[in-house]
Amino acid sequence: MAQDFRSVREAPAEGKRVLVRADLNVPLADGEIADDTRIKAALPTIQLLLKQDAKVILVSHLGRPKSRDELSMRPVRDRLARHLSVPVELAPGVVGEDVSASAAALEPGQVLLLENSRWEGGETQNDPGLASALGELADIYVNDAFGAAHRAHATTEGVAHNLPAYAGLLLERELSELTALRDDPKRPLVVALGGAKVSDKVGVLRRFLELADTVLIGGAMCFSFFRARGVSAGDSLVEEEGIGLAEEVLEAAEHSDCELLLPTDLVIADSFAADAERKEIDGIEVPDDWLGLDIGPETTKRYADAIADAGSVLWNGPMGAFEMEPFAAGTRGVAEAVASASGHTVVGGGDSAAALVAFGLDQEVDWLSTGGGASLELLEGKDLPGVVALKDDDAQEEDSG
Ligand code: ADP
Ligand code: MG
Repeated sequence: MAQDFRSVREAPAEGKRVLVRADLNVPLADGEIADDTRIKAALPTIQLLLKQDAKVILVSHLGRPKSRDELSMRPVRDRLARHLSVPVELAPGVVGEDVSASAAALEPGQVLLLENSRWEGGETQNDPGLASALGELADIYVNDAFGAAHRAHATTEGVAHNLPAYAGLLLERELSELTALRDDPKRPLVVALGGAKVSDKVGVLRRFLELADTVLIGGAMCFSFFRARGVSAGDSLVEEEGIGLAEEVLEAAEHSDCELLLPTDLVIADSFAADAERKEIDGIEVPDDWLGLDIGPETTKRYADAIADAGSVLWNGPMGAFEMEPFAAGTRGVAEAVASASGHTVVGGGDSAAALVAFGLDQEVDWLSTGGGASLELLEGKDLPGVVALKDDDAQEEDSG
């Protein structure tokens, strides 16, 4: 696919105020940053701009604040400053007179971080007034927030229409990795899908039944498939809405050239707890009062073999309740297979990424996507509003017209 938007690498940023929408939406635990992967992933674009003596103005959302007393960007500011080894000034808000004054006072090579964009109600409503106020802070806009690109918000979409707009390095890489996998994969393409709900993944599942050579199903999701075939799932986590969807997927699989594999053995437990009684069963029928919490060793082996032989691999969603060690083996087996696969490997999904990190394998895959929902929507074939807005860049049309 030809790239029809401009890269930050071509942006005339020297001495200019550059508004960078980054994805700094890190998980917090007791006000502390629990995982700073997203901050680290945002650094290359910021560093590129600083090298060109730009005046960098960063903006991101952080969680879902109910008021301006909640979820300040302060901890993110501190961590960013540490990684960049330059001071990062925290603005007194998102927009407004004081923020404009801070932006106007920036010198080349300095960094200003705006406050949590969701402090402004207009952010999620993509309010034109907020988008234009953001536009007035800067000369150039760069969108590097791939993880938020599936949302049409003021900082991800609206403001792109008010300034010359460019794609950041992370956003570019995410798009090229994921579209290559979707549109031109090395074969055989093996897709491993797990996680909690069929409804989260059904779009991708349908898409890859048409594109992939093999789809492997694990996680709680498999119980919707078993129920669709009339097999009892005991007390396993079953999404009722997922049963009908699974039925449709099974039907579609019959008419596709893609091989859809389901578990043939399971790890079950008598409660959802690490110290529950645990059993491996050869089969998929979960007795009453038991729950299926992982794929079994035989299934894990079968899935790992398919991954080892793949030309490319997409993995999204844990194979079981891997956060509890007794139910981590299936996810670990798939993660290890992905890590050691000779094909091109791409992993998406917040919990799958967390699993890779927990197993110490996050450096062993070719691409670990930072976007959960955004990567799924892109793989499904949907347009991402934050990316479309870069293509509709008015300044770009003037240049080329
Ligand atoms: P991702 O974030 O990678 O897309 P999901 O959010 O779809 O993944 O699902 C991850 C969650 O699903 C994990 O917290 C995991 O514990 C849970 N899970 C997977 N399999 C099971 C299962 N058999 N029973 C209960 N929970 C499960
Ligand atoms: Mg998740």
